[in-house]
Amino acid sequence: MKKVCLSMAAAFVLVAGSSMASEAMHWGYSGDGGPDNWATLNEAYEMCGKGVNQSPIDLTAFVESELAPITFHYSGLATEIVNNGHAIQANYTAGSTIEAAGKIFELKQFHFHSPSENTINGESFPMESHFVHAAQDGSLAVIAVMYKIGDENEGMAKLWKQMPAKAGDKVAMASQVKADDLLPQDRDYYRFNGSLTTPPCTEGVLWMVMKQPVTVSKEQVEAFTHVMHHPNNRPVQPVNARPVLQ
Ligand SMILES: [Zn+2]
Repeated sequence: MKKVCLSMAAAFVLVAGSSMASEAMHWGYSGDGGPDNWATLNEAYEMCGKGVNQSPIDLTAFVESELAPITFHYSGLATEIVNNGHAIQANYTAGSTIEAAGKIFELKQFHFHSPSENTINGESFPMESHFVHAAQDGSLAVIAVMYKIGDENEGMAKLWKQMPAKAGDKVAMASQVKADDLLPQDRDYYRFNGSLTTPPCTEGVLWMVMKQPVTVSKEQVEAFTHVMHHPNNRPVQPVNARPVLQ
């Protein structure tokens, strides 16, 4: 989690340094601080440019594989919702775990991107959420969920009611939101190796993308983009030699 906290620290610097000249040096999704320049903004971000297993990707050319089901032991709740200027993030109570690829990972937080970062067979989705998990050895596993336009998403409705409008703001959750509320019923997934999709773009992240999208209303997507003020998706990166298992 150390690496994820680093990027959050950067977000707070961005907030604290608003309207200062140094702001241009902080990462974002467009202009001088945009994805094409992340690697040059800070020495610590060099993987964003020279990594060969970067995320997100276009998932395609699937390799048939005997993927074991992910075992979910989710028990907790989202405790607070944060607008860090790059995404809306819900931090999670300790003790919710998954078992995947022979390892136990604990759910730390989930957050949202619009439009989706990963694409599937070239298809972009209006939203994507990332459930970020960490193992005791510090390695990360992300479960990604794609959203398609349809019925209102109940879990998201509870979250959005408390979504902080201002970057840097954090609100304690008043209503109970469980990670399960945002996952599809069918937990079949694609798997590949990737990275954080934000600086420092650290590699060695186990990615599991749910095949079944869940619905979100058009209004819910609009509410999110209204608060973010900008798209918050990194463009897809070269797949290189990586297989995408299914
Ligand atoms: Zn993400």
